[in-house]
Amino acid sequence: MSAVPVDRPRARPPSVERILAIIRVGRPTASETEALTLVARSVIAEERSRLGMGEPARPDHQLADAIVERLGAFSAPPSPAAINATGVIIHTNLGRAPWPDEAIEAAKEAAGSLLLEIDRSTGRRGARFRLAEEHLIALTGAEDALVTNNNAAALALAVGLAGRGRGVAVSRGELVEIGGGVRIPEIVRRAGARLVEVGTTNRTRAADFEVPLADGSARLVLRVHPSNFRQSGFIEAPDARAVADLAHRHDALVVDDLGSGALLPTEGFGLAHEPTPEERLADGADLVTFSGDKLVGGPQAGFIVGRADLVARLRRDPLARAMRPDKVTLAAVAATLGLYRAGVAAERIPVWRMIAADVAAIRRRATAVAEAIGAGASVVDVRSTVGGGSLPGETLPSAAVAVDASESGIASERLLAGLRAGSPPIVGRIEGGRAVLDLRTVDSGADETLAVAVRAAIAKGPGVRRTARR
Ligand SMILES: *Cc1c(COP(=O)(O)O)cnc(C)c1O
Repeated sequence: MSAVPVDRPRARPPSVERILAIIRVGRPTASETEALTLVARSVIAEERSRLGMGEPARPDHQLADAIVERLGAFSAPPSPAAINATGVIIHTNLGRAPWPDEAIEAAKEAAGSLLLEIDRSTGRRGARFRLAEEHLIALTGAEDALVTNNNAAALALAVGLAGRGRGVAVSRGELVEIGGGVRIPEIVRRAGARLVEVGTTNRTRAADFEVPLADGSARLVLRVHPSNFRQSGFIEAPDARAVADLAHRHDALVVDDLGSGALLPTEGFGLAHEPTPEERLADGADLVTFSGDKLVGGPQAGFIVGRADLVARLRRDPLARAMRPDKVTLAAVAATLGLYRAGVAAERIPVWRMIAADVAAIRRRATAVAEAIGAGASVVDVRSTVGGGSLPGETLPSAAVAVDASESGIASERLLAGLRAGSPPIVGRIEGGRAVLDLRTVDSGADETLAVAVRAAIAKGPGVRRTARR
């Protein structure tokens, strides 16, 4: 790098007027002109700070292009959906569960609909989109159900049943962080209740709940399913039925936070058994809460199922209104749950379709994709995971396309970065030093797009290296 002469005068950015004069936009309205001016000011302000840091001045036409591009992006459709080739089925950083087509259709319909608040037979205000809750009742055998924005909301609402300042008993082995820095003790406190810790980190028995329940210091038992971690070794978890019996003998409530909440038997797909809401209700839980966008495989939502009198109390809670999803989400939730009732969940819900995909079929696809990519691509056996805080440690056999682009001078990290920056963005992972694209989590309709994108990324080469400035 050559030294910048110390006495060189610091360049100044062009004026907003000068740049605006070279931008040709049809016949802008007054508000479009105002928007253009605001964007021009911020682009030029950025140019000024770049110059202040000794960066070279950009020509006027480049600044003008940057302004036009940024303005256009405001009204352009959002970025294209990414292709998930990570092998993590429910990927938190890729929006968790992709919706089934039926949910997308239902959401589109609902977005423009005005009928939902009215009972069609009476013309009066009806229960807001009751269908999702009716499905939940049918699928879990619960007396009643309530849909919230997410499971964290469902949990906070349910824990509030303990009453202000009253005790909520939780096993020390279940005082977990559920994700995004949100922790069970904080949810209990924010719900206005008092946390009563029971047992130890590795071992808690039903009998440990006896004292706080008997002396009334706990009015509610909260069970939190260890859905995103696994304990092993010298461990013991209390028997759910025994804790529920104990709680009910002392007139306390039992809330069971399942987290993921499977509505299909996971063991039928080569995975460990994930408890179902129905089982937890049968084990004596008064209310069970779970997520809409984990193993259920639909939109972000929280579900509360259980005793009708308690659900009715929650529905009247003013906070329930603050935690209520909008009509678009409710319609998509109802459409997703409807697929379970129709007996087609494993075929139509993407999360279950990915879980159920046959490894031989995935390998055939991987072979075809590798052939289409050509040099550097090969098929490798990998393990996919469920992800999204579900079934920790459980994996499914899968096949991936491994790409080694070192011949073209492209390191694996760089290739993956190039694929992420593409359109559509493709997200893979590194395994054994190579870029690996697991096809279990890729829709078969996207195989060709994937092959074309990888070839293009390889053809592009290592890209322009940053050269020393003049
Ligand atoms: C994921 C999870 C939650 C939070 O659910 P969201 O729908 O993400 O709000 C709560 N509890 C458990 C046990 C979880 O696994």
